[in-house]
Amino acid sequence: MKDFSQRALNVPPSEIRRMFAMQEGMEDVVSFALGEPDFDVPDHVVRAIIDSYERRETHYTPNRGLKPLRSAIASEYRRRGLNYSEDEILITPGAVGALNLISLLLMREGDEVILPDPCWSNYIGLVAQTGADAVPVKVRAENRFMFDLDELAAAVTDRTKAILINSPSNPTGGVLDRATIEGIAALAMERDLYVISDEIYRELLWDGTKYTSIASVPGMKERTLLVDGFSKTFAMTGIRLGYLAAPEHMIDRMNTLLENVFSCINEPIQWGGVAALENGREDVERMKAVYRKRRRHIVDGLNAIDGISCADPAGAFYVFPDISRSGLSSADFAMCLLQEEHVVTIPGSGFGAGGEGFVRLSYAVDTETIDEGLRRIRRFMENRT
Ligand code: PLP
Repeated sequence: MKDFSQRALNVPPSEIRRMFAMQEGMEDVVSFALGEPDFDVPDHVVRAIIDSYERRETHYTPNRGLKPLRSAIASEYRRRGLNYSEDEILITPGAVGALNLISLLLMREGDEVILPDPCWSNYIGLVAQTGADAVPVKVRAENRFMFDLDELAAAVTDRTKAILINSPSNPTGGVLDRATIEGIAALAMERDLYVISDEIYRELLWDGTKYTSIASVPGMKERTLLVDGFSKTFAMTGIRLGYLAAPEHMIDRMNTLLENVFSCINEPIQWGGVAALENGREDVERMKAVYRKRRRHIVDGLNAIDGISCADPAGAFYVFPDISRSGLSSADFAMCLLQEEHVVTIPGSGFGAGGEGFVRLSYAVDTETIDEGLRRIRRFMENRT
């Protein structure tokens, strides 16, 4: 048969899926792999979705998404000091849907897109599937996983189309501070670049860390595409609801693309989104209080193990400990830990070369799991010396 498209072949399989496949058939597994809340979808959100089904709202919907949802999102942006009208918002199937539309809108073969290294591995696939080239720029532990602005500027070429930022970050938990955001903004304006800002973890900030959206920097709204969604903040991963905010001419064009890609978004889940935004503050605070405790617990527990050091992550629900003193590469560390102790972590190298020497653990798991995992990791490290 004739070949698949080069774009399809360009996309690398994700390390997360590979680790999943390896644990299949294993018993007594302790998994820190999943980047998803272990909480249930809040009851009032489920109720709103069921009510909509009971009203038989099961038809095609306007491509852009329901107006009440876009209006609730615009209010949420206003609460955060960002001014987006309903016409500057598009509803998508998860943040992934938003990222796909953006990649279709902006990326051409030969374009370069700057990504943080390490970064969420799907970004690499998203860029690759358009034929554009991903240009990794290191974000280092010693700089709290933020870009070095000189290195970032040096990576920009005449082919650079966009810089993608993800703050708080998956996998590092790093949050870009205001000075770095302003530096990225200045570079984007000077070199005429788009900025794609994946803000999906923006609610999950620890130890008083402040969040600055790059869209709030004067002059940036017109070149910024904000990606967001309900998966992480409201524990709605399987519902598949996300959104993006951008200037109207970009939204209009993506609205046309959306028709070919997803047609439109399921109506009941959009009412779930309205319920989450209008009445979900308490749910968010309840979940955050639990994450906050687990974060302290897992960071302290990892630092108490000889040979591992773990900085306090500023955001999200991941820790990214340095395991280099184990003498193993991150891939070998994760593989041996899985085989010997049945503990699943994701090797840092799965998020780019810059992740080497680290592994990612999600602490969106209960305290018993954290304790059992820490016990096994300690034993694993003791067996290495
Ligand atoms: N962006 C980042 C940085 C993520 O880590 C994830 C999920 O792990 C997503 C986007 C996907 O979010 P959604 O479930 O809304 O598609």
